[in-house]
Order: sequence, then C-alpha cells, then structure tokens
Amino acid sequence: MLCNPCLIPKQGTSSQQVGAVPASTSITPAAPSGLVPRPPHSVPQPPRDPSRWAVPCPGIPIEWDADTFYTTYPFQLHAPNAKNCAPYDLMIISGIPKARSPQCLGGTVTLEGIQPCAKCSRLTLDVKIIRERATHSFEHIGNHDDLNADQLRGKVAAVKEKMNILKFKNLDLEDSVQRAQARLAEWRELFSFIGQNPISIPALHRLLANADKKGWSPVTTLEHCQLAKAGKYTARNYTDYEINLAILL
Ligand SMILES: [Zn+2]
Ligand SMILES: [Zn+2]
Repeated sequence: MLCNPCLIPKQGTSSQQVGAVPASTSITPAAPSGLVPRPPHSVPQPPRDPSRWAVPCPGIPIEWDADTFYTTYPFQLHAPNAKNCAPYDLMIISGIPKARSPQCLGGTVTLEGIQPCAKCSRLTLDVKIIRERATHSFEHIGNHDDLNADQLRGKVAAVKEKMNILKFKNLDLEDSVQRAQARLAEWRELFSFIGQNPISIPALHRLLANADKKGWSPVTTLEHCQLAKAGKYTARNYTDYEINLAILL
C-alpha cells in the first residue's frame, strides 16, 4: 500500500505538500528522464477527513454470538433519532460486526497488521455495556427503547398472557353482574306483587317473617305470596303479640 508521501504528484508542481522536500534537494539533475525521485519518508499526521485516511481504521470487533446477533443486537441504538444512542457506528464487514468511533483517526500499520485508532480502541467498554444489557430478560431493562428484538418478543408474550388473565377475570365479572341483575329482577317482581296486593295476601306479615327466618329466596317468597292470595297457604307462625291478644280475647 502506498503511504501519503508516495502519492505526491510529479516534479515541481507542489512543493508545499506534506512530505515534499525543497525542489533543490529533491530533483537531482542526474536522474534519468521519466523517473521521479522519491522524497524521503516523513511521518504524516493522521488527517481528520475520513476521505483522506491513508489506512482505514478497522474499528474494534463487537464480540457477539453470531447465531443470535440479528435477534439480540439492539440495532435501534444506531438510529439517528435514538434516545439512547450508541456512542459508535456499527459496521458489519464480512458478517463480523465492528464498532468505529465517529471521531475515528484512521488506522496505523504495524508489523501485526492494521491497528485501530485510539478513539475506536476506547469503545471496548461501551460495547461491553450494550452486550451485557442484551443478555438480560426484558423485565430487567428499565428503558423500553433499549430492548432488542428477542427481549421485545418476550415482552409481547408476557403482555399477551396478562391480557388473557384479565379477559377471564372480566368474563367472571360479567357473569356475576348478570347473576346479580337476574336476582334483582326477582326481588322487583316480589316487591311489585306485594305492592299490588297489600290486603289480599292473608297474614302477609307472618309470611314475610317466615321467609326471613327460613331464608327463602325471592322466588320462593313470591310463590308463597301467590299461594296465600289464592287461599292455599296461611302462615301459622303467630307472633307473641297475636298469641297474647288471642289469650286476652
Ligand atoms: Zn478508528
Ligand atoms: Zn437480568
């Protein structure tokens, strides 16, 4: 690979370029025509403009289980409008996810290969935090914006289950409301029958006392009222007052 100084155009055009040396020393009269003398190497400052990187920075690898990467990595953290934005750019190169700093300084060539810049190297902890968060169940993540696809699926399943329980509870409630309404209608019918026959039900007071003592339902009480009105039933549970009155007479 060519380094920066090697890319300097031909003689005499740009003595101001980085790495170029004064024309008097760089151009040797003895040089054969067509050959451009090489200026001596100098260490270039890494340019800030990524389009001028001499060696692209490889970033740092995001260590993640390859089988589950696409379902457990929280991709939404890289959305431009993300609330909890990841502090690095995500790159997937040949299937390997990598993190690169938005302030990347460009790579450095060493004997071991191209090394990531200092800015990218500092991302290790940020990646670790995001990886750690992805291993938890959704209940342990406070902010919904941080959930990955798997965690969201878990949450959907849990919400569905909760909804089912509520649905059954609601059905139970509807049932008991219906039963209460039916019972209320029975009481209304009884009350209405008594209201319409205040004197044609013999011994109504004894009948009601009986109903209360024996715990009759409104239906049973109504039946006794109807029987009493038809002369087929007379409550015999005389009150003390009635007994005393009878004795006196
Ligand atoms: Zn970098
Ligand atoms: Zn957890």
